[in-house]
Amino acid sequence: MAKIVCVLYDDPVGGYPPEYARDGVPVIERYPDGQTAPAPQGLDFTPGELLGSVSGALGLRGFLESRGHTLVVTSDKEGPDSRLDRELPDADVVISQPFWPAYMTRERIEKARNLRLIITAGIGSDHTDLQASIERGITVAEVTYSNSISVAEHVVMMILSLVRGYLPAHQTVLDGGWNIADNAARSYDLEGMHVGTVAAGRIGTAVLRRLKPFDVRLHYTDKHRLPQETERELGLTYHPTAHDMVPHCDVVTVNAPLHPETEHLFDDALLGTMKRGAYLVNTARARICDRDAVVRALESGRLAGYAGDVWFPQPAPADHPWRTMPHHGMTPHTSGTSLSAQARYAAGTREILEAWLEGRPIREEYLIVQGGTLAGAGAHSYTAESS
Ligand code: NDP
Repeated sequence: MAKIVCVLYDDPVGGYPPEYARDGVPVIERYPDGQTAPAPQGLDFTPGELLGSVSGALGLRGFLESRGHTLVVTSDKEGPDSRLDRELPDADVVISQPFWPAYMTRERIEKARNLRLIITAGIGSDHTDLQASIERGITVAEVTYSNSISVAEHVVMMILSLVRGYLPAHQTVLDGGWNIADNAARSYDLEGMHVGTVAAGRIGTAVLRRLKPFDVRLHYTDKHRLPQETERELGLTYHPTAHDMVPHCDVVTVNAPLHPETEHLFDDALLGTMKRGAYLVNTARARICDRDAVVRALESGRLAGYAGDVWFPQPAPADHPWRTMPHHGMTPHTSGTSLSAQARYAAGTREILEAWLEGRPIREEYLIVQGGTLAGAGAHSYTAESS
């Protein structure tokens, strides 16, 4: 019987379950590239429920306990005395979400002598030391595509809210004010602007598709070029590197994984090549940007706005400078954990567990590391020295 340790974010302050605003979520059966949505043998939750917090337990409790497995769910993940660290020595499986990551460092992996599977309930396994997982023969899997569209929607929302000045205007209303000039002084139309994405994978391409009807000029850079018909259909301009692309853009959105090639890509030097008053939206990973260089760029006016939902570390400390820098539209790490997304990645987590517990292969597209090497989606998107 397996011991599964699941690290999830805390329940709502008002208690669990929350009062839901709607009665359900639309059923998505396929993603844009034809990949089918998760299809586990069974489900013990109603899609639309809050599954990502401790009491939600990703909807796994009934499934695992009825088969005799042990499920430990905790939000306590920091420091050597955390519940996660205390449960690790005999854990077979660790599950966490990027929104509240269990940082699976080499040290923790060494401590977890029984560990055979690490699941990211969501997308992005940079919180796991992939090289250490490779050396130990641990399988790392994530629920590819489960929340890519959720993030793409968040990116479009953030681009529009920065360019149009939505957040300060809303604040004016909350404050009981009405000074239209103050709001209009930093508000622009997106129409006609040059918008570029660093990476045109699942999220980047979905952002480009969603922005096309806004009559913007679209740019992208990626390690591999998109098919010519996609470039033509969306009117894309390709640039070989981010350095080539960003000087042309009014808005840049970052949609690449965090790995050595992308870590601190947006430093003072690259930000200094952007147009004065450009906007930067990063929902990929915080460390793709140099934290303090972003603050400096906002203070100097090089950037007119910065938004995203990814921070380092997570949770972000109360004094993190991105909470108070000017002209930002930051949210906590929420874009990929809408109730709609949770239904998919919880089902995908169960699908992975069902396969693993029954000794069946895990879907190729979910694999990051297997058999002592990068595998599946991981072989495509990651480099082993990632963490
Ligand atoms: P994909 O794997 O579909 O796309 C990633 C793309 O990045 C690929 O096209 C890849 O290129 C490209 N890429 C990798 N390295 C570089 C580089 N150095 N320069 C330019 N392009 C590069 O992943 P998704 O689109 O689904 O997700 C992207 C990232 O978004 C995730 O890794 C994760 O970090 C983040 N994310 C954030 C979420 C949130 O809640 N905020 C939720 C989900 C994901 P190629 O394939 O051509 O080699």
